[in-house]
Amino acid sequence: MDHIELTKELANEGYQQITCCKCGMEDVNCFVEPVHTNMVKHRLCYNCLFWMEMIDKDKTRPEKVVIAEGHHYLIEPDPPAGYRGFTGFGGAKFVIQFKDGRRVESRNVWHQGDIPQHFREHFPDNAEFVEQPQTTNYV
Ligand SMILES: [Zn+2]
Repeated sequence: MDHIELTKELANEGYQQITCCKCGMEDVNCFVEPVHTNMVKHRLCYNCLFWMEMIDKDKTRPEKVVIAEGHHYLIEPDPPAGYRGFTGFGGAKFVIQFKDGRRVESRNVWHQGDIPQHFREHFPDNAEFVEQPQTTNYV
């Protein structure tokens, strides 16, 4: 995400300029709560706050977290047959081989993004995709 410049108008609305203590980028906390407050509290840009919070969230859901080639994914429960709402990668089937021996098939894998280099130490690869969908639309 591109960073946001603190204009006079934004400053007048109570937004603040933040120099990220993690990556050094300048950012402005013009986001909804709790991001608005947490960026100031932790002196983090939007992107670093996102990944910092991911570390804590992942501790509560280790069985769902897939980290492969520096990308972060979550396995959500497969939707019931006939489900017409959103699913990860449009419901494409993934086969995931975890380094701990688990092998999981899922039709509801969500991608959170490419983990920034300065957060990689917190997110070591724990799996690889054995089978990926043949369509290239999803990549
Ligand atoms: Zn940052």
